[in-house]
Amino acid sequence: MVVRGQGHSMNSCLLQISNSNRIHAPNSDPLVTEIRAILGKCDDFRAEKIAKRAHLPLKWLDEAPSMNGEKGMEKLKHERGVLLLKNRTSPFIEQFQHPIGRCAKFYKLTAYNNCNFWCEYCYLYLTFRTMPVSTHFVNYEKMFREIVNFDRANIPDALRILNLGELCDPLALEDITGFAEELIPFVANETRKTRLLFLTKSDTIRSLLNVNHDNKIIMSFSVNTNIIHQQLEHRTPSPEARLVAAKKLQECGYEIRLRIDPVIWYSTWEKDYLELVQKIFSYVNPARITIGEYRPSKGLATHISSRFPESSLLKVTSGLISDGTKLRYPEEYRISLFSTIINAIKKYDSNVKLALCKEDVKIWKGLGMPINSLYCNCLE
Ligand code: SF4
Repeated sequence: MVVRGQGHSMNSCLLQISNSNRIHAPNSDPLVTEIRAILGKCDDFRAEKIAKRAHLPLKWLDEAPSMNGEKGMEKLKHERGVLLLKNRTSPFIEQFQHPIGRCAKFYKLTAYNNCNFWCEYCYLYLTFRTMPVSTHFVNYEKMFREIVNFDRANIPDALRILNLGELCDPLALEDITGFAEELIPFVANETRKTRLLFLTKSDTIRSLLNVNHDNKIIMSFSVNTNIIHQQLEHRTPSPEARLVAAKKLQECGYEIRLRIDPVIWYSTWEKDYLELVQKIFSYVNPARITIGEYRPSKGLATHISSRFPESSLLKVTSGLISDGTKLRYPEEYRISLFSTIINAIKKYDSNVKLALCKEDVKIWKGLGMPINSLYCNCLE
């Protein structure tokens, strides 16, 4: 892949990245090879049920595993090749607050910490740096009580959505846990105003096609170009497979939203993103599309390099500019990336609701996008 690195003009700052020595993680590898649970801190019944459903050994531990000294593939397998089950003691539902106010204060529901996919750009390597093992919280009864309390609380309509995708991919392990299959009918039957938002790169949706969702569920698929998928989104289904899943869910009445995020500048980005937009509309009619550039936190590169030492993102990151705690593409690059994608989308559907994720007001204005009517992925 040829990606943007340090430099000043658009063409002089392209770098050719070698594909040799890159991580090889076939999509046929199982996402989870072992299930672990914490003795005395995990609902036994549900842990046994999940292990049985997954046909995987269940290993009981005295305490949660923490950081490990490994590097590369060994580190990834240790952290994201297993699944830890435990009860959640802190609230399942909390309000998200962006550090510099570039996002609405939506509510998140945390059923998993971390993920078993291996995207090279995943910000959760940094978020969970001191507890990096992929975890699922299994005391669903506490979660259900919190959902009912949330439903009855006095909350503005725009914030009535519970976002399940802030700290995990909530459908990545659906075949193993059966979590969404249990949660969706609960929300359909027991709440009046609450809606759930699943943000995912998974295509494990078969068990969700026949459950009662009562129009309270939004399935938001994150899609990108084939090159980004092949080089950076290890062990995830292809963008096309995600769109096939989205189409099936749309046929069953689920609301479908899409995210094109992270948008990355590389030699054939323009052609590839135009192809992606064409592919999107050959499968689904999304209610909204939210677009976001690659915008790593400043500390993320260390965590990427300890897992993916050959990652092309390390060179991309070195060419970005500082913006608070984040690194971003210079403004003219962002405008170019976003305007190309937005113009392509409008050719297929001039009414689809569009938004930019956590983007500066200057960029919204530069693209002629209204900033007073927010139709972002995570809001009602
Ligand atoms: S799917 Fe999302 S949460 Fe999972 S590894 Fe990729 S970026 Fe991280």
